[in-house]
Amino acid sequence: MRVGVDLDGVTYDFVASYKRFAEIVAGHELAYPSEWNFFNNQWGWSTKKYLSVFADAVMEGNVFWRGAPIEGAKEGIARLRELGHEVIIVTHRDHPDQKVADAMKRATLYWLQNHDIQVDGILFKGVKTNLGIDIIVDDAPHNIAAAIDADEWVITFDQPWNQPHLLREDDPDHTLRAVGWSEVVRLVEAHQCLLNAQQVNA
Ligand SMILES: [Mg+2]
Repeated sequence: MRVGVDLDGVTYDFVASYKRFAEIVAGHELAYPSEWNFFNNQWGWSTKKYLSVFADAVMEGNVFWRGAPIEGAKEGIARLRELGHEVIIVTHRDHPDQKVADAMKRATLYWLQNHDIQVDGILFKGVKTNLGIDIIVDDAPHNIAAAIDADEWVITFDQPWNQPHLLREDDPDHTLRAVGWSEVVRLVEAHQCLLNAQQVNA
């Protein structure tokens, strides 16, 4: 099966990296992000300030270049590949300033290599549907909702900012939630079993 894996909030601890950099800029401690728009709602920052600090963090070799993987991500990706799945990283790396966009992509490739996270491909995409992926693993509420709308399979990677669980009303089993990477692997395997059973029954 082709598994699409998101980076920020699933494989790369984006909020921890951003928070660290933002605290240096702000000169004081900031609340740990627990909402999608944490900079507005929790920090009282404007979107403009968030984006400006974000661009500096990328251009100064910080965010996307440095920072730890999410616990279990490296092992989980390796396990999925061992089980015969193709792992494609699908991550949004666009920015109105082309210099920043290029640095975001370079940083991402560097980070994956630096952490020896081996994958079968990388797609830099903001829209994560219609990519020929069998199931995606993502934490962003808008990506989860888009996958459900497009009738595509998605595993919600449990994060404070993707509560409550988005469900398809007609088919609650169509969306799955993983708390941690071992559950991602288990759910992908369960989904593969389901597809195999459907093929036998067809
Ligand atoms: Mg994400």
